Amino acid sequence: MTTPRPEASLRTLDHLVEAGLVAPAEKPEIEKVLRRYALAITPAMAGIIAADDPQSGVQRQFVPSAQELVTAEGELDDPIGDEPFAPVKGIVHRYEDRVLLKLHHACPVYCRFCFRREQVGPGGAALNGGELDAALAYIAADPGIWEVILSGGDPLILPPARLRSVIERLCAIDHVGVIRIHSRVPVVSPERIDAELVAALRQAKPVYVVLHCNHPDELGPAARAALARLADAGLPLLSQSVLLRGINDDAQTLTRLFRRLVENRVKPYYLHHADLARGTGHFRTSIGEGQALMGQLRGKVSGLCQPTYVLDIPGGHGKVPIGPAYVEAAGPGAYALRDPAGGRHMYRECLPAEAGSGAMPLSSA
Ligand SMILES: *Cc1c(COP(=O)(O)O)cnc(C)c1O
Ligand code: SF4
Repeated sequence: MTTPRPEASLRTLDHLVEAGLVAPAEKPEIEKVLRRYALAITPAMAGIIAADDPQSGVQRQFVPSAQELVTAEGELDDPIGDEPFAPVKGIVHRYEDRVLLKLHHACPVYCRFCFRREQVGPGGAALNGGELDAALAYIAADPGIWEVILSGGDPLILPPARLRSVIERLCAIDHVGVIRIHSRVPVVSPERIDAELVAALRQAKPVYVVLHCNHPDELGPAARAALARLADAGLPLLSQSVLLRGINDDAQTLTRLFRRLVENRVKPYYLHHADLARGTGHFRTSIGEGQALMGQLRGKVSGLCQPTYVLDIPGGHGKVPIGPAYVEAAGPGAYALRDPAGGRHMYRECLPAEAGSGAMPLSSA
């Protein structure tokens, strides 16, 4: 018997059982998971899951499991510390030159490892007209804000006309130079990337699209066509991935993922170390494992395919690179460098002599 391809997203326990993704015996446990965390699997992802091996990297990202009920000490409701940096509803202002603008809390899929899993879901209220006005006024009042990042909730599930109007209002603020959209839609709901939506993103100021994608099998023909529509429209495309145990934590899968992104004109931007969100321990790797993986890619795989491996420091202290170190100070003007194969090399700086040190500056030689 083949599972019919669903025409609508899977949103309930019964949908999962009908699709053969949850065994009847597992129902009570999964019901507990769904009381806490939102569920949605789009037709595009359900189609890939149905055609795929159950242990594959796509299924485990979206199908709930009883392991989500296990929480470890140290896991947090707000693992990246958004809350203390929210000056008005919908804005997170943690870094000087950029803010997040969260228009709503809904996503087309709910990733089981989501770092905002306590906040996202279909029930969360979107910003109303007055709240959006207040968020835009906050941005307009701070000339230090150069970039506005629509995040969320997935901005690309909004009706194109609404998205267009928000981006137009952002473009009208003089000091806003760039708008960035973080989205999973081109992969999980590629049919939404139609001419109307693409037109809404082509505006007076550059709109960068950062795609969230974790496994090469997510990028089927429909997703690749959606990315081509965005790239052909001149929208710069970047990606962010989360390092996930059992899904993409091996050098071969990461290489396939990053190469496939680059082949589709998407530059891998960040590889995130999994955050300390509650009930996501089964997805987490150690930092040492992540560094070893990045080390395996460096030198072997094109530089275009190398994202920065980052960790968002819990408590809202910001993201920092945590990849392997290749340089170590070794005395004044001297460094020990490690090559991609592990060899060590000394490097001595050759700098123009400083003014006052007795040597002639190079420019007047
Ligand atoms: C991740 C994040 C950003 C974007 O950071 P970049 O390093 O510029 O990609 C901005 N604001 C907040 C609150 C973030 O969490
Ligand atoms: S798309 Fe992003 S915000 Fe939405 S559930 Fe997945 S990880 Fe969370």
